[in-house]
Amino acid sequence: MKLICIGRNYTDHITELQNERPSEPVVFIKPDSSVLPKQQDFYIPDFSDDIHYEVEVLVKIKKVGKHIAQKFAPSYYDEIGLGIDFTARDLQAQLKSKGLPWEKAKGFDGAAVIGKWLPKNNFKNLNNLNFNLKKNEEIVQEGNTSLMLWKIDEIISYVSTFFMLKKGDVIFTGTPAGVGKVSANDYLRGSLEGEELFTVKIK
Ligand code: ZN
Repeated sequence: MKLICIGRNYTDHITELQNERPSEPVVFIKPDSSVLPKQQDFYIPDFSDDIHYEVEVLVKIKKVGKHIAQKFAPSYYDEIGLGIDFTARDLQAQLKSKGLPWEKAKGFDGAAVIGKWLPKNNFKNLNNLNFNLKKNEEIVQEGNTSLMLWKIDEIISYVSTFFMLKKGDVIFTGTPAGVGKVSANDYLRGSLEGEELFTVKIK
């Protein structure tokens, strides 16, 4: 199982990190070992002093496919979720400045939170889903999938031209503005369309 992640998919977040607006999706992969086991706390790793949360809408792939046309993309997933793409921002900045790959900053153990899955049929329009992240009861990130530069079906079509999608793969569709640092004892909670899909304690 692999986690395919999209970077810079919301304009407001691109501005926040002073990144260039991409002409094609920015894609990276997290290994399956980065998934934070359910109900486990997130431990801030020793190699970073600046771990950021990034709340993202997730899509779970249900069958094998490659070179998937956008119009057929909906038949490759039934479930939508919410998660966190934890990022060691200090390490990522170092690697980016040297033009090196981001893996260490994005793919470390525990760097992927995957919440509860919901049937996509629960929602009328996947391109109009509200989601948010609370840190210690305060809303720190709010997004709507209508603001994605590349929508779910476009992402599936695009990434499947490079990576064969397999059953159980998870796509992280990018984060809206409001990313920020976590500290020990923080408590993060993510909701999609009003339903809480994950909680994480930071240690
Ligand atoms: Zn992200």
